[in-house]
Amino acid sequence: MKIHEYQAKELFKAYNVPVPDGNVAFSVDEAKKTAANLGNFPVVVKAQIHAGGRGKGGGVKLAASMEEVETLAREILGMTLVTHQTGPEGRLVKKLLIEAGQKIKKELYLSLLVDRTTASIVIMASQDGGMDIEEVAAKTPERIIKVYVDPLMGIQGYQLRQVGFALELPSSAMKPFSALLSNLYRFFIANDCSMVEINPLILTLDDKVLALDAKVDFDSNALYRHKDLMALRDLDEEDPLEIEASKYNLNYINLDGNVGNIVNGAGLAMATMDIIKNAGATPANFMDVGGGATSEQVENAFRIILADDKVKAVLINIFGGILRCDIFAQGVVDAAKKTNINIPVVVRMEGTNVEKGKKILSNAGLNLTTAVDLFDAAQKIAAAVN
Ligand code: GDP
Ligand code: MN
Repeated sequence: MKIHEYQAKELFKAYNVPVPDGNVAFSVDEAKKTAANLGNFPVVVKAQIHAGGRGKGGGVKLAASMEEVETLAREILGMTLVTHQTGPEGRLVKKLLIEAGQKIKKELYLSLLVDRTTASIVIMASQDGGMDIEEVAAKTPERIIKVYVDPLMGIQGYQLRQVGFALELPSSAMKPFSALLSNLYRFFIANDCSMVEINPLILTLDDKVLALDAKVDFDSNALYRHKDLMALRDLDEEDPLEIEASKYNLNYINLDGNVGNIVNGAGLAMATMDIIKNAGATPANFMDVGGGATSEQVENAFRIILADDKVKAVLINIFGGILRCDIFAQGVVDAAKKTNINIPVVVRMEGTNVEKGKKILSNAGLNLTTAVDLFDAAQKIAAAVN
């Protein structure tokens, strides 16, 4: 679960990770009030959406006077902000963060991530902050250092210093930086984060370090033990179909292609996406109905996929283990009767009660194409959309 920058910064404050003074604003009036409370110019007006690249898209601007705060707040509130992370449709801005402008000497990069390969928490840091870190990683990977923290040992003093030295901080900033990073690590662990990214972390003209930006992603599987964090969820920032799917325990992620997928099991879903891509088609979604899907879930999965205009064909790929193929087939038939399916559907089914399942499908008189195996299914679905 992602949260907004202003929410992340509130949490940072509670962990003594320094951030600029500021406040969230839902209206132009509130923006002006906060600016007045800050008392000094420039003030930064920042669009709050769950996507990065706001600066380049025109969503982060400096105001030198109260008049400018008003103009910028009016301009940014209600705008559809397009960044490289929002997709071409952009995101409607409904709130702002109004902050005290900082005098920047250097923009740095700092992030913490769960690294599955090494089963550790990796700290990534670079002196090339502020800009596209993906570009730094691609062109000058030696400019990013990685320090791996064993979660059982916790972060060690030498690791804090290792990062501080790599950032070539002035000596007076070393101790404050160590405290910042150690507090950030504490925040990461205590809240079951999957990612915390500060881009940029800045060194000010008077050699202070603080988080100028804040991106936080929590592990959704651990949210049940953080009821307070759940309140930070902003449904406006989520895909309506993904919200709908989550009501039925369907593991659904919207993608850009045109083949809808109904698959049981996340591993099989990944493999399915790979194989259709190989066949020359692209997935419109990742839909995992789970190992023990009910026919009602299958029906909902169908309904959600068909509500997506991008979908030009549906591939059903089921391996019946705990989920029996006959139950699944009945779900497909029920769903097909209720929803008016007017696009090609290819079915590949294997496993428990597969013969019974196939009989149910063929007796239902639906317009389905069956496939003998996954390769055949991928070929047929690619032919259907291309
Ligand atoms: P992002 O574009 O969504 O990552 O938004 P950021 O919060 O990272 O802001 C983008 C850029 O705006 C930063 O890299 C800074 O260069 C600039 N910026 C943000 N706040 C300030 C500030 O207080 N003072 C100055 N001079 N620049 C700022
Ligand atoms: Mn940023």
